[in-house]
Amino acid sequence: MTRVNGLLLYPVGHVSIDDLVEARILIEEAFNERLPVYIATAKTNPPMHLIDWNRIQYNAEEVTLWIAERVRTILSSNILVVGICGCDAYVRGLNFVFGLAVPNLGVGTVYTKRLETRDHGVFVSRLAKEVVHETGHLLGLGHCGSKDCVMSFSNSIVDVDRKNYRFCDNCWRKIERILEN
Ligand SMILES: [Zn+2]
Ligand SMILES: [Zn+2]
Repeated sequence: MTRVNGLLLYPVGHVSIDDLVEARILIEEAFNERLPVYIATAKTNPPMHLIDWNRIQYNAEEVTLWIAERVRTILSSNILVVGICGCDAYVRGLNFVFGLAVPNLGVGTVYTKRLETRDHGVFVSRLAKEVVHETGHLLGLGHCGSKDCVMSFSNSIVDVDRKNYRFCDNCWRKIERILEN
């Protein structure tokens, strides 16, 4: 992988920029301030044709590809992109996903619908965890067996709440090596 210069949070649909500004602090902390995080402010609406009307959910793969098309110049400067989408989504074989990463594109997505809660702090922390998790995948990491590591797989919101927004020591060593390149 060529040198990674940063991470862009790209809001899609009903997403609060203020929430992203708060989550950004946790995300930069998780990467020990080694990965600058930027926020795109121009909000884009998700295209209706990417909705599966039988499920009333977006197709996560298609949304991720659609975002990749729109951020080509950003990707060419070696900045990873995670779309923050104010909707619910699925991939084939799963009822829903919290997020998806396509490492060979450098683009991931996080879906906020199932992260919502009345507790604002909990919501921001869930959002940060999912962004850090998908960014970990974009940097080449797989899932981690350590249950509190941000790279552990989340089957449900309970799993998301249990894990930390940071990497375990083992995963962090890998991230550090990748970011040093
Ligand atoms: Zn994952
Ligand atoms: Zn780990």
